[in-house]
Amino acid sequence: MHTCRDCNESFATELALELHRDTCEQADLFCDVCGKRFRESAATRDGWHYTCPTEDCEGQGMGDQIKRIEDIRAATQ
Ligand SMILES: [Zn+2]
Ligand SMILES: [Zn+2]
Repeated sequence: MHTCRDCNESFATELALELHRDTCEQADLFCDVCGKRFRESAATRDGWHYTCPTEDCEGQGMGDQIKRIEDIRAATQ
């Protein structure tokens, strides 16, 4: 069983989970460096300093390398 770490929904296959990760509404932040999505609480402890929760990824800084999905959507419309 593969479980989305953001919304806790479970999927039978890793592929199903990967597909879900692209649309997961709980994951509202995005890292420009590794291209992964994650939720705000995974990226910051104090709501001020944001770093990518992905292992080995150096992405950091809200609006810099860490972006909001909402803002990306707004910018491409
Ligand atoms: Zn999810
Ligand atoms: Zn990253």
